[in-house]
Amino acid sequence: MKRLDLSKVDQIIVHHTASPRSTTLAQVRRWHKARGFDDVGYHWFIDGKGRVQQGRSLRYRGAHCAGQNWRSVGIAVAGDFELVEPTEDQLTSLWALIEATRKQLPRDDVQVTGHRDHSDSVCPGDHLYDLLRERFGIPPVDGEDHG
Ligand SMILES: [Zn+2]
Repeated sequence: MKRLDLSKVDQIIVHHTASPRSTTLAQVRRWHKARGFDDVGYHWFIDGKGRVQQGRSLRYRGAHCAGQNWRSVGIAVAGDFELVEPTEDQLTSLWALIEATRKQLPRDDVQVTGHRDHSDSVCPGDHLYDLLRERFGIPPVDGEDHG
């Protein structure tokens, strides 16, 4: 797996699993491996109860957002937020995880975006995306693609 250079990371990209809230990290890891990834594509996973679990190590680039993996940390929240709302527990964990991740990243211009800001996808679902917008706004995304 390619290394992630944290000094280049300027995006925290939020996803949903587009699956039931009961989806586990182990399931997602299996799905991603079946797609040929070396490991689960996300760095962090928040399960249906709001528990934060580490996916792929931050030492490595994720596999969660085409063209953006070199410059981003990927967080997935279990659920299909086109259909249902994230729970309060999931949101509490997500906001805390985003703040902790921001503190860990060397750049001070880190943006919080949804997968849909970078590609033709509904991810992370309207319900979660609207909450992201409320909280962080949606900054203009630099379309640079360095693979
Ligand atoms: Zn996504």
